[in-house]
Amino acid sequence: MDAAVLDAITTAWKEAGTVVVFTGAGMSTESGLPDFRSSQGLWRSRPESLASLTALETQPDDFYYFYQWRIAKLWAVTPNVGHDILAELERHGRVHQLVTQNVDGLHQRAGAQHVLELHGSLRSVSCRRCRKRYDSRQLLQAAEIDEFAYQSGLYRHGAACFCPCCGGALRPDVVLFGESLPDHAWTEAVRWSGKADLFVVLGSSLLVSPANYLPRLAVEQGAKLLMINQEPTPLDGLATWVLREKCGVMLAQLQSGIVNE
Ligand code: NAD
Repeated sequence: MDAAVLDAITTAWKEAGTVVVFTGAGMSTESGLPDFRSSQGLWRSRPESLASLTALETQPDDFYYFYQWRIAKLWAVTPNVGHDILAELERHGRVHQLVTQNVDGLHQRAGAQHVLELHGSLRSVSCRRCRKRYDSRQLLQAAEIDEFAYQSGLYRHGAACFCPCCGGALRPDVVLFGESLPDHAWTEAVRWSGKADLFVVLGSSLLVSPANYLPRLAVEQGAKLLMINQEPTPLDGLATWVLREKCGVMLAQLQSGIVNE
């Protein structure tokens, strides 16, 4: 990257009183988790309609296979260099709030403390009847994530998908399509975005609302916007800087300039 641009960004980052970092699925592709909408994305092979309560009720085999597959993947990966750097910047007081659309928990596993999860978490599942919460690996017990069986129509969801206490159906603790965002996370995300001096978007297509309202709000309230995404987004025109790079690679280039006095 151009040294002058790098310098301008690190200077703005150091001078900002409040830095809010907003992450999307592109933050975790370098850990090996597919995103949804890029050319390599998950939704190419799996329809968006699977992530809904209607799907749980009407196509339970598809619904549970989809989530067992995602949960298995999520527990098999580890935070990448980008997650580590953000946690490190937080420890140095250079990131004040992380707001994520991700449900993978990788920011927290990297050690970040201040994370607002707008779309819930895939690290746990809950019973729809008695509300008891379990580690999401509960859904994987004795489950075979066998793509061939699924594609051949042979997969059937089993006992692991039901509450060991009351037998109710388990559901992932994510915000499904048609559900509202968790109140606390959303209210806090709006509050932090409104007071940001620098708002950094990492790996998001910014196509999902209402989450994509936050960068716009931040800019309207006077924040500089740094966009790091491999593909164009609808809000690129609002950004002070647009970097078409990988999150981890870019954060590694910026890190020392941000932390050093
Ligand atoms: P998205 O799939 O719509 O967009 C991801 C964007 O990241 C794309 O524009 C892509 O070009 C870019 N990208 C991919 N890898 C990148 C990298 N290494 N560096 C920089 N950019 C990269 O994702 P979204 O905007 O987060 O919205 C989709 C929804 O996806 C969210 O609701 C989220 O809950 C869900 N989701 C989460 C995960 C996860 O938790 N890891 C994974 C898939 C989807």
